[in-house]
Amino acid sequence: MNSRLIDIAQIVAVSEVNGPGKRAVIWVQGCHKRCPGCWNQDYLKFGSVWQLTAQELFQTVKQMTANFRDVEGITFSGGEPFDQAEALEDAAVLFKENNLTVMSYSGYTLEEIQQNNKVQSKLLAALDILVDGEYVKELHCDRLWRSSLNQKVHFLSDHYKSFEDLINADVREFEVVLSANETRVTGFPSADLIRRI
Ligand code: SF4
Repeated sequence: MNSRLIDIAQIVAVSEVNGPGKRAVIWVQGCHKRCPGCWNQDYLKFGSVWQLTAQELFQTVKQMTANFRDVEGITFSGGEPFDQAEALEDAAVLFKENNLTVMSYSGYTLEEIQQNNKVQSKLLAALDILVDGEYVKELHCDRLWRSSLNQKVHFLSDHYKSFEDLINADVREFEVVLSANETRVTGFPSADLIRRI
């Protein structure tokens, strides 16, 4: 296992709108792409003040989810997870060893990941689901787990095959979490709703 640090933007212990079931969601900080209309502008610059090794990330999520009792899986989002593929692959292996499923978003397509380099392919091999493709404003849609029509859901293991029939339904899911310190919106709300919140 390498000791490379993962730039973390945010971790949410339990979400029900970033993949199947209840999942811990890890947003990494940093993305080499600059898709027009990117929703996560704050997460594009590399160099987070919150940096963790794969082992530290595993322990952090374990603690946040009461020993993983609250979740069935992990979702990587960003930022661009595949720009930090080496350490995230280590983390994915640790989560899988603890019977959690692993899903990731990527602005790269499946074909680009397969051609890019071996490190990205190794992270790909550790996933149950990949949602691929950059956000294209002109193709905006309300589909399960994604927000533009070019983005595809790839079931890379048999674990969630039963979702295959659901993924092309029009669904807009989002969560609003209110706490004393912040209002956090995750999932796929409309831009108008975010403005109003
Ligand atoms: S790949 Fe994702 S995070 Fe990166 S710029 Fe595009 S939409 Fe934003």
